[in-house]
Amino acid sequence: MKISPINLKSYNSSYNQQTSFQGGLEKPLSEQDYRNAKNYFNFYADNLDFKINLSTLNSNQLNGIQYGIDVFDGLSMDDILYVITRGNILVNRGCSNGCIHCLFGASPFSIKTLDRMSWEDFSSYIEGAKELASRMKNKIDTSNWFKILFLDSDCMDMEIKDKEGNSYDFVDCVKKILEVNPDYQILFDTTGWCPKSQNRQKRAEKIRDFILKHKNNLREFNISVNPFHQVYINSKEQNNPFTLEEKKKKGEEYIKRIANTLYTFTPLLSLKKYNVIARAIPDNQTDNPSCNKTELRSIIKQITDELRKMYEKDFEGKQEFVKSKKDIDKLTEQYETLLKDDLEKIEDASSIVPIGRAEKLFRNPQDSFEERKTNFMNYLKERKHSDIPLAINPNGKIVTYYADMSIPSDIKLNFENKDKEVKPLGSEIKDFIFVV
Ligand code: SF4
Repeated sequence: MKISPINLKSYNSSYNQQTSFQGGLEKPLSEQDYRNAKNYFNFYADNLDFKINLSTLNSNQLNGIQYGIDVFDGLSMDDILYVITRGNILVNRGCSNGCIHCLFGASPFSIKTLDRMSWEDFSSYIEGAKELASRMKNKIDTSNWFKILFLDSDCMDMEIKDKEGNSYDFVDCVKKILEVNPDYQILFDTTGWCPKSQNRQKRAEKIRDFILKHKNNLREFNISVNPFHQVYINSKEQNNPFTLEEKKKKGEEYIKRIANTLYTFTPLLSLKKYNVIARAIPDNQTDNPSCNKTELRSIIKQITDELRKMYEKDFEGKQEFVKSKKDIDKLTEQYETLLKDDLEKIEDASSIVPIGRAEKLFRNPQDSFEERKTNFMNYLKERKHSDIPLAINPNGKIVTYYADMSIPSDIKLNFENKDKEVKPLGSEIKDFIFVV
């Protein structure tokens, strides 16, 4: 199938289009299609001594090279390349942090839906791409293959399992991707972990050491610091069941969580792409004093005080990061500067999108669902097809998204778990589909 213009079924009508997920090929491929595609590629590529950008080839003539690669069954080369170059791989669909500003309104992991991709399905996708590259004699440019691994989950919680019950985390997924795209740009986001969890602590150290070894592959490593995390919110809410003493403990728990996160990732301070992102709502845009800039200033002070204590303890003990008293000041100040730089920018822009769960934090009413839906439509119409992002669900079904909204597409990967249900990504618009 050649790439067609975006076909948006009008959402103004009562028409309710069921997503077909038929795939993009008009008829199944044959061995002859494979031979024709190979001949075409060889003819084009044999005399070239540089990596070929696949967009310079005729994708219709290349159609057939994917013959027999199970995970791409039913998909044209146009579909496959679009998915590989634009598809975020949502290995996990869920998050237990409950942040009130979460753009996608991430909900905790559930057993009712397929919230985690299986390792077999994840591997089949990466291996399928690897096989494709190998059929093209590894002479193609794969540097833009594969996008980020999350949208509505925290990279620290990323965990997928194989049939034997073995677990794979963020690092394992990235390693697999690097086998096909050695230039893969890693994006990592977290809002920390409970310091009492030895499992998470070990995982964080593994991630840190991996990033230090692969710093040239790093796009961004982000730690979020804000008053929106559920634990912190529990410490501030007026009408929740916690006693004053329990609330105080929750507040301390959040401060310790972030201080320990920053402490653990101390060696990453030497990397330019290591960011500590402090977010709050400008005081004049909210009536909720527990999520504004003033509150964040107090949080930052408490975190840096706690962090200093951790560095002092390190100096007196293991000296893992701190070899001298000067280091204590230096490291604490480095973090303080990172946090305060962001704090100062909050007056101009909060970077919090006032939609979904975050809507109620803002004083002024925001765009309605219908208005946002119209924005989504305009976004799709205005952009080149190949610029529109995709997201691959744990069951292989592919959606496109904009802000907090998503629309199903008409294609899917041929995953073992293709018949299992996944939760919608943000607010799902059900009355039309995105035709790839
Ligand atoms: S903002 Fe990130 S960490 Fe917070 S609930 Fe959403 S996905 Fe989870």
